[in-house]
Amino acid sequence: GETMGLAALNGRVIPAQDKVFGISGRAKDAIKAKGHENVANATIGALLDDDGRLIVLSSVDEAVKNLKPVQYAEYAPIAGIPGFKEAATKAALGDFKTDRHIGVVATPGGTGALRNTIANYSCPGDKILTHDWCWPNYQNIAAEQGRGFETFEMFDEAGKFNFADLEYKINKLLRIQDRLVLILNTPANNPTGYSLSVYEWQQVVAILNRVPDDRIVALLVDIAYIDFAGDEKEVRAFLPELEELRSNVLPILAYSASKTFTFYGFRCAAMLCLADDEETADEFVRVCSYSSRSSWSNSPRGPQEVIAEIYSDAELLAKVDEERKGFREMLLSRGRAFEDAAGKVGLKIVPFRAGFFVSIPCEDPDAVCKRLEENDVYCVPMDKGVRVSIASISETKCGKVPAIIKQALDSF
Ligand code: PLP
Repeated sequence: GETMGLAALNGRVIPAQDKVFGISGRAKDAIKAKGHENVANATIGALLDDDGRLIVLSSVDEAVKNLKPVQYAEYAPIAGIPGFKEAATKAALGDFKTDRHIGVVATPGGTGALRNTIANYSCPGDKILTHDWCWPNYQNIAAEQGRGFETFEMFDEAGKFNFADLEYKINKLLRIQDRLVLILNTPANNPTGYSLSVYEWQQVVAILNRVPDDRIVALLVDIAYIDFAGDEKEVRAFLPELEELRSNVLPILAYSASKTFTFYGFRCAAMLCLADDEETADEFVRVCSYSSRSSWSNSPRGPQEVIAEIYSDAELLAKVDEERKGFREMLLSRGRAFEDAAGKVGLKIVPFRAGFFVSIPCEDPDAVCKRLEENDVYCVPMDKGVRVSIASISETKCGKVPAIIKQALDSF
């Protein structure tokens, strides 16, 4: 029934209504009818306080209010204002000092970074590769540009990161296409909360270094959740491993301000490459700027000015980091509460480390989510299980929801 309209679908599968939108609508209705304390709306991909209100960093809010009109009204340069590019580099890399050549391009959200990477490091008809537990929008962003989509199994039978399937799929695709965009969303993966360890990163780098010289790989590391994944230094400990990649593999970081600065609606992010030589970094900036110019043109200037300002003022930066740390600890406590409660009732979850989400593997996730709704728990069905947003429910609810999910699973 999707061929009746005037639009050319071009291979895209566009549902009549977004599934998540429907579920969160019913969650809101339930909250109205039964009271917030009696409903768990675990569908939302933003950090909410225990009462279900969006958390906004007050230190960032203050900096936003201090913007002068020209700072948000004027166009920004296509690749971003210099102060933002510098700040985003510091924010993404932390203390890590690289010998590599950094190229930076501002984008409207991490979404823009994903879009530009696919546009410039794959060809129409190529398949993009990522883990099977992933943000579903990856597939849509690829389809929008006429690219296909392939996944590797993120975990093996023993629940360990599945290097064998990663390597198998890389080789399979590179036999039929010359280049590959590989997306890894870590740390604090959406939807599982998994983070690759440094040891696991070393294995991934070793696999990529076995790619033949005449094949090109863009390794997009989606670090959208990095600042809520744990200690700032520990979560960045994998970055030096990227320097071990051979020159036919280009590491790109998609660093988003959406979560880090509670700028979800402001649309601010940066894509950064760590290139082996200057020409590759220059080319990255040139081609990604061209893509920006021909899709959304300039990225919003206001949020760039705010982040540049924060990084130019050590006191303000410390305040922002401190405030975020408090909320991060709140989120980490929710994760521990969920894990503990799952352990107590024998609910199996996908390996979790930190972040906004926990996933439960199951058959027929749609039916499980329906059953959960009957018990006032609202989650998002994924391909291979149910996603619970611990970012949007209190620690108390995190302690209660696992038993409800266990009961729902046992009822089938
Ligand atoms: N990557 C992942 C895994 C996400 O979950 C999201 C947002 O939900 C994004 C990237 C992009 O977010 P934004 O475009 O707001 O930066």
